[in-house]
Amino acid sequence: MMKEHRIPIFDFLTLPRIEPSKLSPEQRIQHFASIYIQYNQQQAKAQSNRCLDCGNPYCEWKCPVHNHIPQWLHLVAEGKILEACELCHQTNTLPEVCGRICPQEKLCEGACTLNDGLGAITIGAIEQYITDSALKLGWKPDLSGVRKTTKKASIIGAGPAGLACADILIRSGVRVDVYDRYPEIGGLLTFGIPEFKLEKQIIKKRRQLFEDMGINFHLNVDVGKTITIKELYGECDALFLGLGADKAKGVSIKGSQLVGIYHAMPFLLSIIYKHLGLPTNDIYSLKAKRVIILGGGDTAMDCNRTAIRQSAKYVTCVYRRMLKDMPGSTKEVKHAIEEGVEFIWNRQAIEFIGDKKLRAIKFASTSVGTNGKLIIDENSTEVLPADFAIMAYGFSANPPNWLSLLDVLTKTNGLVLTNQKNMLPLQTSNPKVFAGGDMVIGADLVVNAIAQGRKAAQSILDYLAINT
Ligand SMILES: Cc1cc2nc3c(=O)[nH]c(=O)nc-3n(C[C@H](O)[C@H](O)[C@H](O)COP(=O)(O)OP(=O)(O)OC[C@H]3O[C@@H](n4cnc5c(N)ncnc54)[C@H](O)[C@@H]3O)c2cc1C
Ligand code: SF4
Repeated sequence: MMKEHRIPIFDFLTLPRIEPSKLSPEQRIQHFASIYIQYNQQQAKAQSNRCLDCGNPYCEWKCPVHNHIPQWLHLVAEGKILEACELCHQTNTLPEVCGRICPQEKLCEGACTLNDGLGAITIGAIEQYITDSALKLGWKPDLSGVRKTTKKASIIGAGPAGLACADILIRSGVRVDVYDRYPEIGGLLTFGIPEFKLEKQIIKKRRQLFEDMGINFHLNVDVGKTITIKELYGECDALFLGLGADKAKGVSIKGSQLVGIYHAMPFLLSIIYKHLGLPTNDIYSLKAKRVIILGGGDTAMDCNRTAIRQSAKYVTCVYRRMLKDMPGSTKEVKHAIEEGVEFIWNRQAIEFIGDKKLRAIKFASTSVGTNGKLIIDENSTEVLPADFAIMAYGFSANPPNWLSLLDVLTKTNGLVLTNQKNMLPLQTSNPKVFAGGDMVIGADLVVNAIAQGRKAAQSILDYLAINT
């Protein structure tokens, strides 16, 4: 799009970066609601005005969906929220989600020219403010100019990748049917990420917008069980797979059969199901328990902060490398520390100790060799008491058996093979089938899944010879 440079007003020299206020840690841990108090219009305008319009927006390049950040900051500064919201949606399907849960410090804000001393623009908080405010003002996607085609696409997976693909296709006149095994859309946004990071109401609101756009959701449909893949495949002109990567990575540790040792997802899901009013048998009550979380990514941080909110006696997070190596969002580590989680770095669990029930965990010290490989020193150990251990070691691909019925090839690690020679971006070994998100790139970020879903949709349009 045409870039219009404004005259810089150098607000960044006098006005510091001010993030939205947060509830005190004591208040936050009483509930699962958001910890932030959103900007009001005046604060959003003032923070947007700090953009120095540097002319070479690194923020935009570092953002995986290449949001037109300086332009929408400019619109917010002028109070043009509806226009800013339209612009946000030109590049991003779920700006209100990304504004909340992208690791901005590693993406857009990390690349902001002002990050070097003066404090990056609060891009994520402003992106969230734009969409939330526009929705309150009644903003809806305008599809009045869309010319309907006779083509039909089916999408399996209503996570960010599938939703992003559906968004582009419906705006291009394709009939879109989205299938998911869960009773609500969102994938991990609904059935993974806790409320204190992303309120479930946000996804419900977005579902309403998608349905108004004409996207047909078929929920509680487990493809391969409720409906055969052949049936679904035969009914569409193109198929998009956005199934995610949800196989918990296992680490073989002596004593893993003891009662009190759990994987992260069943633990997080039991709380989410309860909050959504869905039936759940597995409520793990951690009240007054000594809890150890094993891992250092976003999932581990979500487990830490969930356990704290369940009134655990104490929560200790043990990670095998150092703070600087932690793969998740830095702001989430900070939140966990503020809320009372204790961190121990450079330790690897080597044994769960107990008699039927977990009583303690034995850890070995770790260090990093010159080749970057982790060295586990089993001669240097310590034992920490624990009633509950939650393993958050990450996720790997979990491709369904039915992929072979479609002649869709996977790599040895189970990720779907795409981008082969002479194929369209994100087209699989079956030309009618496209894939994106975690099942192609591995467990990653929401914004990358969105970027892939949108890219795959563009390939589907090319494959269907639809000019947009
Ligand atoms: C606990 C946790 C916290 C996270 N926190 C963050 C964060 O703070 N920031 C961030 O950017 N990312 C975070 N992530 C990562 C992010 O959620 C994922 O990268 C993203 O959701 C991947 O999107 P996706 O669409 O590829 O897959 P998913 O979100 O996994 O969606 C896949 C969908 O496919 C459906 N499906 C699968 N198989 C079938 C089938 N056979 N039939 C019907 N439906 C099927 C599933 O039900 C699911 O709804 C987190 C992940 C976890 C687990
Ligand atoms: S989508 Fe994520 S990376 Fe891009 S501008 Fe928004 S918060 Fe930043």
